[in-house]
Amino acid sequence: MKRYRQICALVIAIFLLGAILQGCARATGVREYHKDIFALNTWVNIRIYAGKNGPDILDKAIKRIEEIENRMSVTIQGSDVSRINSNAGKQPVKVHDDTFAVIKKALEYAEKSNGAFDITIYPIVKLWGITSEHPRVPTESEIQDKLELVDYRNVVIDEEEKTVYLKEPGMGIDLGAIAKGYAADEVARILKKEGVVHALINMGGNVVVMGGKPNGQPWRIGVQDPRAEGARRHIAVIEVMDGSVVSSGDYERYIVDVYKKTGKRYHHIFDPSTGYPANSGLMATTVVAPYSIDADALSTTVFIMGAERGLEIVEEMEGVDALAITLDKKIYTSKGLKGKLIVTDKEYELQQ
Ligand code: ADP
Ligand code: MG
Repeated sequence: MKRYRQICALVIAIFLLGAILQGCARATGVREYHKDIFALNTWVNIRIYAGKNGPDILDKAIKRIEEIENRMSVTIQGSDVSRINSNAGKQPVKVHDDTFAVIKKALEYAEKSNGAFDITIYPIVKLWGITSEHPRVPTESEIQDKLELVDYRNVVIDEEEKTVYLKEPGMGIDLGAIAKGYAADEVARILKKEGVVHALINMGGNVVVMGGKPNGQPWRIGVQDPRAEGARRHIAVIEVMDGSVVSSGDYERYIVDVYKKTGKRYHHIFDPSTGYPANSGLMATTVVAPYSIDADALSTTVFIMGAERGLEIVEEMEGVDALAITLDKKIYTSKGLKGKLIVTDKEYELQQ
C-alpha cells in the first residue's frame, strides 16, 4: 500500500512538473522556429527556441550568412576572395574584417599542419573541378604545373592595413574548408545576442549547438555513414550541450572515374604535397570543438593528415576532440572521446 502511494505521488509530481513546464513555455511564448536556405554551397538549417520575434532573429542570422558568402565565395564576382585572386602577383587587396580574420586563422592552421591545410590549393581545386559542372582527372604534368602555385607562405597579410597579397601570378585562395565554420560561429553569436538559449545550426554537416535541448538533455549529433548511398543514416552519435561538431570526408563531393573505368573515387579534399585527392587511409573525420571555425579547419586537416598525425594535432589543443574513420571501417578517437562516443552501427569497429 505504501509503495502504491509512493508511485501515485511520483506520477502526480511528474504530471505537475510537465504542466508547469508547459505553462512556462506558454507564458513566455517560447516555441520552435526554423529556416532552411541554400548558402555557402550547401543546405543551411537553423532551429531556434524563441519568443514571437523568432522569425526576425532567423532573418538576421540568414542575412549574416549571406553577407559572409558575398565576401568569401571564390565564385562570386567582386567578393574579397575573387579580388584577392585576380590581383595575385599584382597588388595587395584591402578586405573586410570578416575575410581577414578567416584568412589569418587559415594561415595558422597551415603552419600547425605543416602545409596539409592550405587555402592556396585553389589552382588544384579548379583544375580537377570536382564540384564544378565539368570535373575531370587531369594529367600528371597539369598537376605539377599548378602545384608550383600552392604555398601558403606566399600569402602576405598586413594586420594594420587589413590587406591580403598573393605573391605569385596565377595563385588563388579558396576558403571552402573554413568559411562555413566562421559563418556558423557568427550565427551562434547573433542568436546569443538576441537572447536565444537553445539552438541547433546545421550547415551541411557543419553543426553548432547551443544550450542543450529545451528539455535539458544534450543535443545528439549523428556521425554520418560515409558509405550510405542515397538516404542519410548515422553510424555513431556524439552528445554535446554547447559547441561545434564538424565532419569532412570523401563522400560529400566526389566523382567516380568511369572514363578510365578504374572505378576510383576522386573527392574534393586535396593533399597539397601531391595535388591529388588526399589519400591518408580515411573516409571521414569528425571534430568537436568550442568554435566551429576550428572544428571546420581541423576536420579537413585531420582528413588530409590521417588518423595518427591528425589526432596528434587535435590532442595538443585544449577542449578539442576528434574521430577518424578508416577505409576499413575502424574508428579512432582522441582521448577526450574515449567512452563517450556512441557507435550505433556494428560494421564500424571502435578502437580503444
Ligand atoms: P565540405 O566543403 O564538404 O564541408 P571541407 O570543410 O573539408 O568539406 O572543405 C573542402 C573544401 O576545402 C574543398 O571543396 C576545397 O574548396 C577546399 N580544400 C581542398 N583541399 C584543401 C586543403 N588541403 N586545404 C584547405 N582547403 C582545401
Ligand atoms: Mg572543413
